[in-house]
Amino acid sequence: MRATVLYGAGDVRVENVPDARLIEPTDALVAVSRACICGSDLWPYKLMQPGEPPRRMGHEAIGVVEAVGSGVRTLKAGDVVVMPFAYSDGTCAFCHEGLHTSCVHGGFFGTVELPGAQAEALRIPLADGTLFALPVGADDALMASLLTLSDVMGTGHHAARAAKVGRGKTVAVLGDGAVGLCAVIAARRLGAEQIIMMGRHPDRIALAKQFGATDVVSERGDEAVARVRALTGGLGVHSVLECVGTDQAMRSAIGITRPGGAVGRVGVPHYEAIPGSDPAFYNNLTISGGPAPVRAYIEELLPDVLEGRIEPGRVFDRVITLDQVPDGYRAMNEREAIKVMVKP
Ligand SMILES: [Zn+2]
Repeated sequence: MRATVLYGAGDVRVENVPDARLIEPTDALVAVSRACICGSDLWPYKLMQPGEPPRRMGHEAIGVVEAVGSGVRTLKAGDVVVMPFAYSDGTCAFCHEGLHTSCVHGGFFGTVELPGAQAEALRIPLADGTLFALPVGADDALMASLLTLSDVMGTGHHAARAAKVGRGKTVAVLGDGAVGLCAVIAARRLGAEQIIMMGRHPDRIALAKQFGATDVVSERGDEAVARVRALTGGLGVHSVLECVGTDQAMRSAIGITRPGGAVGRVGVPHYEAIPGSDPAFYNNLTISGGPAPVRAYIEELLPDVLEGRIEPGRVFDRVITLDQVPDGYRAMNEREAIKVMVKP
């Protein structure tokens, strides 16, 4: 079968690899009908160091179950399923608490340990706990939005939850990538009154406004902080949804959070220590967030997708075949595409 392999910085290839197959009785084999390139894939695409082992990429997919192991109880061949970016057993203490990304038996797709979803097929460990069977056919019109339940919509929602977004709150979203745009949807869905999008790409800002952003701040650093304060009567916002992951973004996040407010960070951090310890302390800020337990959020978000109340699938602005994946990485890296869908 064909699959995507990252060999080094800027060196991503689509190659023939051994067919995915069942290994454990709890596995399912899924034929991928839609996959994605993620903003987080761009980190290793840019920064992979010589000597690091090749990596089979992709952690977002919708597919059709082709086969299940003898221990799988809730799924059968032919089911249309969405795959969260992490696998989980659904039964341990953390899964019961809704934190599937900390599952004691879990892990992540698209890592050195487990092949990813930018491929024709993949093996799903702990299939009963991991996969979510969708009540739709394989070519449903809502497929793009359903696909975002694999990662970006659930991650945006997690940022909003971690930042304690609620009715009447003021919110700022840092980052105008697919996660930031989904974070705008999530903030509006949870009743935020003011949603300030902090980004600078005109196409993304236009989409953010359609998703519910009320204000846009395109400055950076101290100027951005001053602009957000000006937009909030000098107070700062209740909730900051940090969807970037850089030291600079975190500094801005802490700079614009009002006393007693919260930062929900879902951008994979590329800094050692969280900056802004002093203002965070004196302003009684909550700093929260991490890898989103998207498996826990599918049930909550699915009705809104099925009934058209939210349309996160609009973040996809390019559809490619598997063989075009290297160009898809380039396009996302050069900010030519917001988010790329792959149809193997
Ligand atoms: Zn678990």
